[in-house]
Amino acid sequence: MFKIIKNCPLCGSVKRSEVIKNSKNIYSYFLSRILNLRENFILRNMENYKCKKCKLIYKKKWLYPKFVEKIYKDYQPTHPGGLNTLKKNFGKKKFIELAKKYIYFHSKKKYEFSDRAKREIIKILNSTNNNKNNYIKFKKKFIEKLVNNDVEYIRNNYSALSNLIDRPKTYSQFSGFKSHEISSYLNKVVNLKSINSYAEVGCPLWGNYNYFKKPWIRQYFVNTNEKNFWKTDKKISNNCLKYLSKRIKVLNKKKLKQIDFVGIYNFLDHLENPLKFFKKEFKDIRFYGIICEDFDLSKKIDCQHFSSWNYKSLIFLSKKIGYTIYHKPLELSNSIYKLYILKKNDEKIKDLKRIIKNV
Ligand SMILES: [Zn+2]
Repeated sequence: MFKIIKNCPLCGSVKRSEVIKNSKNIYSYFLSRILNLRENFILRNMENYKCKKCKLIYKKKWLYPKFVEKIYKDYQPTHPGGLNTLKKNFGKKKFIELAKKYIYFHSKKKYEFSDRAKREIIKILNSTNNNKNNYIKFKKKFIEKLVNNDVEYIRNNYSALSNLIDRPKTYSQFSGFKSHEISSYLNKVVNLKSINSYAEVGCPLWGNYNYFKKPWIRQYFVNTNEKNFWKTDKKISNNCLKYLSKRIKVLNKKKLKQIDFVGIYNFLDHLENPLKFFKKEFKDIRFYGIICEDFDLSKKIDCQHFSSWNYKSLIFLSKKIGYTIYHKPLELSNSIYKLYILKKNDEKIKDLKRIIKNV
């Protein structure tokens, strides 16, 4: 069922310290269905080690590709985190639609569908940017009743609650990774005038194309066909790639041109071989912008993530691939994420050469 991970996937060391448990989620549920094993057994087998040398957190055991593929092909073929950044998936209207769906499917005893609506409802409520006391209290009670399937309460209250749903929180699943805070940080680090090309990998919908939207910057999405991630393929129905702006060109890794800045947002933790990713698939990148969920902030590890990154493991990675992390990471406010900017070490020499050439 599982393959045993003997060495740290980043530094190769066998020395590891603490063991960190996984939290239960929809993916552990899917895996229990796919592998026909109890969820707790799976969670236990897929516990995490922390490497003593580079501090990367990684799974004790991982899944064979045929099982991973089933998650992203059959069980969760659309990527909720990406699609949720589309406006139509958040707000009062969507909330009402989901509440009605929940009530309907529950009355028909189609619990798979009513549970799905339930999860979406909770996600919207917890991602709503409303800190007022009346909302917080109402939300808490509503979720409690929903979890206990008090359909009568839901029917009588969803409309009133929907009026308190306005904007999604920054960095929630419904917003993606763009903010004033990120923009001003990038302003300090990168001279946009010197950037001619910008690319993202992973999910085409939750990144920061807008910040790099300048007449002189060509924009790309790089399709790496990562097996531990959602496929990006326009032929698949409701695929995130279909909603990517037309001005952004899709590249396959084989046809990769030189790119100045590559954004890697919530993606590194899916890779089984991070060094290969940086050494083979990407070369001559001047800057990487990397966003990772940080265990110190989230206090949780999900079973679908092969690894979990922190400042120390990213410093190790940077050195290994010839980059330096700018200053220190930016802790994204009220979130579980940190942003790191990696700059290629020979950038300074190149800058000088460019100046000399122009003299
Ligand atoms: Zn290590």
